[in-house]
Amino acid sequence: MYVMRRWGTRNAGALAALFRFLDPLIRAFHPLFRRLGYGRLERPAAALEARLKGVLFDCRMCGRCILRATGMTCPMNCPKALRNGPCGGVRADGTCEVAPETPCVWVEAWAGSRRMRDGKAILTVQAPVDHDIQGSSAWLRHIREAAAARGVRAEQSE
Ligand code: SF4
Repeated sequence: MYVMRRWGTRNAGALAALFRFLDPLIRAFHPLFRRLGYGRLERPAAALEARLKGVLFDCRMCGRCILRATGMTCPMNCPKALRNGPCGGVRADGTCEVAPETPCVWVEAWAGSRRMRDGKAILTVQAPVDHDIQGSSAWLRHIREAAAARGVRAEQSE
């Protein structure tokens, strides 16, 4: 929903602060999720994530969310699905060369990043889209990977 997507970009600073606050709480669910089985949780989590983030960010369920590095603007809404900045075709007025009726996703991402405390994360080089994980829950992946980084047993119990 384009109106909500623009709202997310305009309020990128507040959304990022909310995420920073919620992140440790969400990650604390890892032991419970591991016990229940990440595999078993995948389908309902992905459905919930698609619904919520679909409304807020026009999320395309790429499987690895980089909203915090893109000014809370989903880069998968770029018609070319570019994850590392705009192509060379941005018009002088900041609109997209493919869809001239809309602003370039990356122009909006940059504006959103300027409202965020850690806005320089937009300069981080992102890995290409992994088509093997498309449609899966980036939330669960984030929790699992954060646990693994902390050295907590994080293997999937499928
Ligand atoms: S970066 Fe991926 S997971 Fe995050 S909102 Fe965009 S499509 Fe969804």
